[in-house]
Formats: sequence, C-alpha cells, structure tokens
Amino acid sequence: MTIRTRQDMKENTKRLVVLGAGESGFGAAVLAKDKGFDVFLSDSGSIAPKYRDRLIEEGIAFEDGGHTMERILDADEVVKSPGIPLDAPVVEAVRSKNIPIISEIEFAGRYTDSKMVCITGSNGKTTTTMLTHHILRHAGIDASLAGNIGMSLAYQVAREPHAVYVVELSSFQLDNMYEFKADIAVLLNITPDHLDRYDHKMENYVKAKFRILRNMEASDSFIFWKDDPIISAQLAKVGTAARMLPFSEYYEEGSAAYIDAENQLIFNTPGTSMSMPRADLALNGLHNVFNSMAAGLSACLCDVSKDDIREALSDFCGVEHRLEFTADIDGVRWINDSKATNVNSCYYALEAMTTPTVLILGGKDKGNDYSEILPLVQEKVKAIVAMGKDNAKIMEFFGPHVPLMADCHSLADAIEACRSFATDGDTVLLSPCCASFDLFKSYEDRGRQFKAAVLALKDSEEKETLNS
Ligand code: ADP
Repeated sequence: MTIRTRQDMKENTKRLVVLGAGESGFGAAVLAKDKGFDVFLSDSGSIAPKYRDRLIEEGIAFEDGGHTMERILDADEVVKSPGIPLDAPVVEAVRSKNIPIISEIEFAGRYTDSKMVCITGSNGKTTTTMLTHHILRHAGIDASLAGNIGMSLAYQVAREPHAVYVVELSSFQLDNMYEFKADIAVLLNITPDHLDRYDHKMENYVKAKFRILRNMEASDSFIFWKDDPIISAQLAKVGTAARMLPFSEYYEEGSAAYIDAENQLIFNTPGTSMSMPRADLALNGLHNVFNSMAAGLSACLCDVSKDDIREALSDFCGVEHRLEFTADIDGVRWINDSKATNVNSCYYALEAMTTPTVLILGGKDKGNDYSEILPLVQEKVKAIVAMGKDNAKIMEFFGPHVPLMADCHSLADAIEACRSFATDGDTVLLSPCCASFDLFKSYEDRGRQFKAAVLALKDSEEKETLNS
C-alpha cells in the first residue's frame, strides 16, 4: 500500500467526492470548491432544502436519492459524513478501489493552523465543549464551536475563520482521521456505546476514541479522566508523546485537577495554579465536576485568567436536555435529561439527585444492562415510570426492587403517573437510558415534548389555585 502524506493529498487530490449532505458534508463541499477541487456531493437520501438551495447557489455539483458509482469511484479522495456507517455498500465500494476516505474534520484540518481543542468521550462531550467555548469567549478569545455542534469546521475554515476551535468529536468522526492533530485533546470517559458500529467489540470502540491522540507531540496536551479504568489501561498500552493532564475526583499523584478536603476545585497546569469552591460551579452533579475540570484545564492551557475561569464556570447556563431544570410544581422539581440515552449517563444523573426521585425510563433499548444503576435506584428512586412501546425489560428488572412502578406507552400517561407518585420535596427525572425512536423523533423531540407537557401542567395547576 502506498502511504500518501498530508502535503501529497493537499497537492495531488483533484477530484473530491463528498458522501452525505448534512452540515459536515455541505461544509466540506464548500471548502473543496474554494480550494479549487472538482467536487461532487452524493447523498442516498433526500437533501434538506437549506443545503440543497445553498449547493445550487454555490454551483456545487450534487445528486440525491442514490449514488452514481462511476462518478464516485472516479474520485481521488472521498470525504464521508460521520452518519454513514463504515459497512454501507457505497463505502465498501470506495474502499475496495483503495480510494482514501477521510472525515470532514480531517479535510478541514489541512487548511487551518488555528488552535484545536478537541473533546471526546462516551458521555459529557456536548456539555464540556459548550462549557469550554463559554469560558474562552468569556475571556474574549475568538473561539468557535465545531464538530458535532454548530457550523461545520470545514465551512468555518473556508468562510468564517476563528483563532480557536472547540471541536466535539464522536468516535464516528475520529474513525476517519489520520493526519489531523489536536493541540489540546480531552478524553472524558469510555463506557460501552455504539458497539453495533464496532463489530460489537469494545476494544474497537476504545481504539476509535484513542484516535484523538494521533500525531500529538510533546508541546500538545492530553486532558483525561484518571479514574477511568478503560482509559488508564489503554493509555498504558499505547502511551502518548503529549503532556498529560489527568483529572480525578480526589488528589492522586499527578492529578492536574481534583477536589480537595475543603471542597475546592484545584487546577494545576504548567502556567496556572488556581482553586474555586465546588459550590460555585454552575452545573450540578459529580459528572459536571469532571466536565468543569476538563473545561477549566483546557482554558488554563489557553492562557485564560483565573478570574475569567472562575466567573465562566459559575455563570454557565447549561445545555438543553442535560439535567435541565424545567419547572417546580407544588414543591416537585421536574428535570429534563432526555439526552441520557445510555445507562451510564443516567447513572450520573441519579448521582446528582439529592431528593427522592421519580424516574422516567424507557424507549429503544440498546442492549442495556441496568445493574449499573441498581444501587443508586435502590437508594434514591421511589418510583419508576416506564415510557416506551415495549417496557417489559424495565418492568421485569426493576419490579422486584422498586415499590412503585408504572407501565406507560405515551408521554401523557407517563406525566400523569409521575404526578400521582411525586409529592412535595421530590424530583421527577426524565433520564431514560434509551434512545427515543420508538415514541419520538429524537432525544430533542422527547425533551421538548416533555418540557411542554410539564409547563402545561404547571399552567393548569396555577389556574386551579387562582380559581380556588
Ligand atoms: P454527549 O455529547 O457525550 O452525549 P452530553 O453533554 O450531551 O454528552 O450529556 C449526555 C448525558 O450524559 C447527559 O444527560 C448527562 O446526564 C450525562 N453526562 C454528562 N457528562 C457526563 C460525564 N462526564 N460522565 C458521565 N455522564 C455524563
């Protein structure tokens, strides 16, 4: 096999095919056009009008509703959108012709020298990415979001360049990254997720996450959760040239961030030593302490002042659908954590609960093992409301352990059940452990419908109180 270098690819690629016309595919096509490629975009589904119109405006050749294989297989290089599985027939055909396949981030990385703060992990990516971005912006740094959030990196590199990019990277994006290099890489945690995309082998998923370390040098920094056994084991195996900045709950040798005996968050980087009270963090829960540590360390490395870091960590507004406070109705707090689509994220949501909890679980099961949350459920959960098309597994697993259970097949019934179980001082927590596709379009749709229903309930309760 001939290995082509980044410079080679930059100079010798003429015909570029982009597969998938979402945010990243559209961005890659625009950047390719600006850099003088003969670019063709192909999508097997239908292209959303907002991208279709802009492709026409830009004069970029495209097709949808199928792939013209001769044209695709004529490419020097292919940019694949992260949503297209590696075993999709079109991808296999490209691979069998030995045409290099890269991600949009890899492609964009060739045309920018801006600082890259790259964040991955099984859970907490979006929160940490947004929090890091918030701190940098608060400090007046020209930072922008990219990757899974907001505008694609490629489009920004082409048309709206910034000094720093805070990039959320899923394992799917990392899969097709080769020469790209992060200046600061953050690895939050690794727990089983998306194993269907990795031959059901955890080691393949772990390797994909560790791709974030590729090409890093001694002048780059690697921030990671020291207490994660999977990260530690893999790091011992593969090592890294980058400077390591581990964070942990309590002080351990080498910890760059931890909580001390006075409940202060301590940050120690080569350039900054600082502390702030844990109680001042805007986000609740131990998982958010970790996310705040990762974001704070990244900000220290970007030379943000201690005061700016403290202020921004304490005035961050949170991210929709992540432990999002929705309403207080008659002394019951209702919380939307619809983004908890796996068991581990629900674990941390429960960990953050300080009152008896009515927990809404259910949806499309991804092969969940609920034993991970059983001790917390036994400690904190007074009732479980199962909300899904098929709740048998949840009812069976938790039935013997939780005194109050409800088997609901619609949001309206679930809300009604929660209302009957929850009393003054309790919390109702939607943290379903499952994907949403059985009853909802997406986790966002589930979260928004939940919030709308809760706010409607609050409204009607208030009207009743006024009339009585
Ligand atoms: P991602 O982008 O990785 O899916 P999010 O920030 O969107 O992560 O959070 C998803 C869910 O994961 C949230 O509902 C939250 O309860 C949980 N979570 C957030 N941060 C962490 C963390 N560091 N460790 C474990 N769970 C977390």
